[in-house]
Amino acid sequence: MQAKTLIIGAGAAGLMCAAQTGAGTIVIDHAKAAGEKIRISGGGRCNFTNMGCGADNFISQNRHFAKSALKRYTQWDFIEMVDRHDIAWHEKTLGQLFCDETAKDIIKMLIAESPEMDLRLRTSLVSLDQTENGFRAVIETGGKQDTLNVANVVVACGGKSIPKMGATDLGYKIAQKFGHQIIETRPALVPLTFSGNPFASMSGTAAPVRLTANDTSFDEALLFTHRGLSGPAVLQVSSYWTEGDSITVDLASNGTLPQTIKTARSTEGRKDLTTILAQHLPTKLVAHLSTLLDLSGNVGDLSDKKIDALVDDLRNWSLTPNGSEGYRTAEVTLGGVDTDGLSSKTMISKNTPGLYFIGEVVDVTGWLGGYNFQWAWSSGWAAGQDIAGN
Ligand SMILES: Cc1cc2nc3c(=O)[nH]c(=O)nc-3n(C[C@H](O)[C@H](O)[C@H](O)COP(=O)(O)OP(=O)(O)OC[C@H]3O[C@@H](n4cnc5c(N)ncnc54)[C@H](O)[C@@H]3O)c2cc1C
Repeated sequence: MQAKTLIIGAGAAGLMCAAQTGAGTIVIDHAKAAGEKIRISGGGRCNFTNMGCGADNFISQNRHFAKSALKRYTQWDFIEMVDRHDIAWHEKTLGQLFCDETAKDIIKMLIAESPEMDLRLRTSLVSLDQTENGFRAVIETGGKQDTLNVANVVVACGGKSIPKMGATDLGYKIAQKFGHQIIETRPALVPLTFSGNPFASMSGTAAPVRLTANDTSFDEALLFTHRGLSGPAVLQVSSYWTEGDSITVDLASNGTLPQTIKTARSTEGRKDLTTILAQHLPTKLVAHLSTLLDLSGNVGDLSDKKIDALVDDLRNWSLTPNGSEGYRTAEVTLGGVDTDGLSSKTMISKNTPGLYFIGEVVDVTGWLGGYNFQWAWSSGWAAGQDIAGN
């Protein structure tokens, strides 16, 4: 069978690309439904973009690579599409936009944008080879094989995160077969683990913190769990953390704690220091901290020097994770197809005409907060427009 374009992966990037390429597009996916990660994203409401999205919100060996696609297809372009489909949305926090109802609305919208797409689910790629005019792909659905001759192949099969949902390393294998380098991959936006369950007694407790790993800080919530640390602050720094590094928790980043304690010293001097701290931090966290720091005695007995030393300890709580929960729960995969081998404008391979890489398989990883979907939309759009124009 002849077709213009084969897109491998009916996820966020693949569906957006198909919406641009139009007639003659076959999209294959081994899953039983398209856009499964969209469906479960954002707690079922899909944090589909971020109003503040820019290249600084991404990690890549080449921090300039994402700029072009993000500028050509912006968050405002995607919001316009969402509005056109009458999907109600709201800003939750920090510019993060979510559907009011369900993430399924985004999947339906993308499928509706591609009326001519030939979508083949439960379909796998058996082989992919270059020919004189493009590519020959053998695909298999329900034990039946089909040979496709196509001019373009778009690799949109995502990263390695959540293998249970169908994530595979197919995209990286295709890249290597066609001479592309792979930047080492690792799980990102992932909870961090600790030996000996040190936070078990306060599992479920959350606190607003400034969390730092390798000189990169995020002001968000930290969640203590029975396995270690989670919550937005931890997911964010996990992308900057590598095995063996410590992370620094600042429990008083807004700077008001010294004054709070000094005021309490003169107005509530007979109260325990732990009682005063519990006005600022969750009680269970204060109880945990009292096993690490000397928090005994009345607040009225504290000298300025002691208060300053205590605040310093609370602002520089150093913890060393022993690992992360890995690809089992990671929201994304850091690393991937080296951007040196791709055009930043169109995502086309520099060494293989007609071959494109889009979305998470590329070495561009966003922060938590809708950035990863925006990368999928922008890179998918850029490749799709290029194909549509040829
Ligand atoms: C739990 C969770 C929540 C998330 N929430 C958000 C969020 O709210 N906001 C945000 O911006 N990002 C979020 N993300 C990240 C976001 O889902 C991904 O970055 C995004 O889906 C990447 O798009 P993609 O098209 O590159 O890959 P995917 O969406 O993963 O699509 C890849 C497709 O390829 C298919 N595939 C893989 N291997 C093969 C194969 N061998 N053969 C055939 N098909 C194959 C898969 O079945 C899949 O359909 C979340 C991720 C997870 C895991």
